[in-house]
Amino acid sequence: MAKVVKKAKKEKIPRQPMPEQAPDIRRKNFDEVPFGLSPEAAMKEAERCLQCKKPACIAGCPVEVDIPGFIQLIKDGDFQGSIRNLWAKNSLPAVCGRVCPQETQCEEVCIIGKKGEPVAIGNLERFAADYERAHGTGELPPKEKPTGKKVAVVGAGPSGLTVAGDLILKGHDVTIFEAFHLPGGVLVYGIPEFRLSNDIVFAEVDFLGKLGVKVQCNAVVGRIITLEELFEEGYEAIFLGVGAGLPNFLGVPNENLIGIFSANEYLTRTNLMKAYLFPKYDTPVIRGKNVITIGAGNVAMDSARTALRLGAKSSRIVYRRSSAEVPARAAEVHHAEEEGVEFHFLTAPTKFYGNQKGRVIGMQGLKMELGEPDDSGRRRPIPIEGSEFELECDLVIIAVGSGANPLLTKSTQGLRLNRWGYIMAEPNTGKTSLKGVWAGGDIVTGAATVILAMGAGRTAADSIHDYLTWGW
Ligand code: FAD
Ligand code: SF4
Repeated sequence: MAKVVKKAKKEKIPRQPMPEQAPDIRRKNFDEVPFGLSPEAAMKEAERCLQCKKPACIAGCPVEVDIPGFIQLIKDGDFQGSIRNLWAKNSLPAVCGRVCPQETQCEEVCIIGKKGEPVAIGNLERFAADYERAHGTGELPPKEKPTGKKVAVVGAGPSGLTVAGDLILKGHDVTIFEAFHLPGGVLVYGIPEFRLSNDIVFAEVDFLGKLGVKVQCNAVVGRIITLEELFEEGYEAIFLGVGAGLPNFLGVPNENLIGIFSANEYLTRTNLMKAYLFPKYDTPVIRGKNVITIGAGNVAMDSARTALRLGAKSSRIVYRRSSAEVPARAAEVHHAEEEGVEFHFLTAPTKFYGNQKGRVIGMQGLKMELGEPDDSGRRRPIPIEGSEFELECDLVIIAVGSGANPLLTKSTQGLRLNRWGYIMAEPNTGKTSLKGVWAGGDIVTGAATVILAMGAGRTAADSIHDYLTWGW
């Protein structure tokens, strides 16, 4: 009886709201939108968890974080204990607490969500990580004795950082080779500051540095050094986590007009190269007043919201399917709507118009209707004949997905690729067709999520450790 009363009491506690910047203020700055939960709010939210005997939330998490465990520690006020618990399964909790699609993973299956709102697992994860950054002792986890084995990690995105973090603790000598001048992968060049500040990612990378991981930036593997040369330099295992950063385009007339960017270039200029602080930083970016973003994934939301912050009067999303098929995280769509991004569903671009100087001034669109589901399981958009119309614009951002970067894969003999150019790797180990070479993250799965890339990194790290220890 007592248990039932306790459960009913917990169910009455409302989900603690995340305090955040008001939409009309935040659409003019690049600061993070949510402020984070206070310790009191986090402890109250943690009280909502029922500490289920068979927690569905753990099964819903791709890296099986001990969710009730870390939440219980927050409830008890043991915030440092909770971050230690999180680190056991997730080396980037500050990142995942901010960008994981919890609503389709752990929170989707949380038992509390059956009747009301699920426990705010992501917000609690973020709280624990932020508390540690602000108040932690900086104490490093214990490392195993040096094994004398050298490992090269190619790419400093979430998959590569996870491999490096796991293997350094196992006593191996790890060096990350990163093509860009800064580590972090999409976390720093793609996801904007207002969702995930670069400083948070750099703090995670610094932490790896303190553990002994070496990071060599401006190192394009496949161009300045080959995998064979890495082996000759004494590396015994190599992990490839080079991502899927090659942007797709629409293939419609006039797509090369001035003022039409791939989302990849637009976001990299703005985030990594800090174009939003031009001329303090050298890299400029076109600041459109009338902006159209094509696509409706996370990348499109990030682009449309970035355009507002760079001074756009109107920022429109053009998407060929309906709102039900939008692939972006629900929270991102909600934030975009609040900030004033307009959505044009069931609309496909068919061509762009330019002026005499070659700058984009408009887009021709075609209305669509939905047919039967296609290979992706989503209903196929079908053009409605004669429904052409025009939209004015002075900046267009194309965010319709990305593919495998061919630079490293094409220059590496014997590396088996699938027909889309992604590396073929064993799902349970990450082993590729080349002895001593593993791969994981977007370069194996195609563009996916941070947590899946980290999960692949962990799988590969376990397999690399076995190989270095036992030879298999
Ligand atoms: P990446 O993060 O792409 O990192 C690969 C790294 O390898 C890069 O730093 C690259 O410079 C480097 N590299 C490439 N080639 C070489 C080479 N030859 N030599 C050396 N280095 C090389 N996921 C979510 O879960 N939630 C989100 O909200 C979300 N939002 C996103 C927003 C944007 C704008 C984008 C683009 C993606 C988003 N994603 C999101 C997806 C997520 O970021 C990726 O799935 C994840 O970063 C993939 O990790 P990775 O380690 O495989 O590769
Ligand atoms: Fe707590 Fe929800 Fe997980 Fe149950 S399913 S343990 S209530 S977070």
